[in-house]
Amino acid sequence: MKTIDFHTHAFPDFLAEQAIGAIEASSSLQRSHADGTVSGLLRSMDTAGIEVSVIASIATAEKQFVSILNWSREIASDRIIPFPSIYPFSADAVQQAEQVADAGFRGVKLHPLYQDFQPLNERMMPIYGAIADRDLILLFHSGDDLAFLGDHRCMPSTMLQVQKRVPGLKMVLSHLGGFSQYTDFERHCLGSEAYIDVSFGIPDQPSEMFTHIVRDHTAGRVMFGTDSPWNDQKTEIEKLKRVIDKPDLLEDILWNNAAELLGIGH
Ligand SMILES: [Zn+2]
Repeated sequence: MKTIDFHTHAFPDFLAEQAIGAIEASSSLQRSHADGTVSGLLRSMDTAGIEVSVIASIATAEKQFVSILNWSREIASDRIIPFPSIYPFSADAVQQAEQVADAGFRGVKLHPLYQDFQPLNERMMPIYGAIADRDLILLFHSGDDLAFLGDHRCMPSTMLQVQKRVPGLKMVLSHLGGFSQYTDFERHCLGSEAYIDVSFGIPDQPSEMFTHIVRDHTAGRVMFGTDSPWNDQKTEIEKLKRVIDKPDLLEDILWNNAAELLGIGH
């Protein structure tokens, strides 16, 4: 079955070891078989039978915007779809969104915890507006994060307000709508316009809540994702196949929904 992984991370070769090590040290995360480089990700994709991966970057300092944009240009290919980042506190964050769109990218990643902003802060609205105006996809961290325990600013219901404020925004709430805040997603976001990726949300065994979310959320809005290198792509596909017994739904999640959103041919 053809597969798109809508949520992965990688770093420039010279930076990968340091970046992965720093995140491991600040959280309980452990890298999988992938080593945080693009070549490592491609090897992992080959092993797992994944055609395409979205690589999401996060700018945590103003100067990273340009380096991430340039690196994203270098690594873009048929199999690698980079989502660069915007630095929200930059005076020209709106222009950064324009630059990302002008460079031909399909989307951007924002992470309120790593980038330390409140999702509903008014100064974010023009940035979201620019993302929507240029038809960029916003891959949005949602829910808790293992590196920021106790910080609940990204509740799914909070994140959904962003889309209500910015009509037309194509927003993907990561981690099954919100890492470890699935009840809030079920209660407030099920059936909404928000897309979700299932990274970090695929259970080891069949689960009523998981089935409810992926089956009953708005059609076409659930996408496979792994958060590689933090999870192993092959293992995550195997888990997904174990907990979804409908081939049509599985095919939609593994390929169709993301292909449609990204504009990739079937
Ligand atoms: Zn991630």
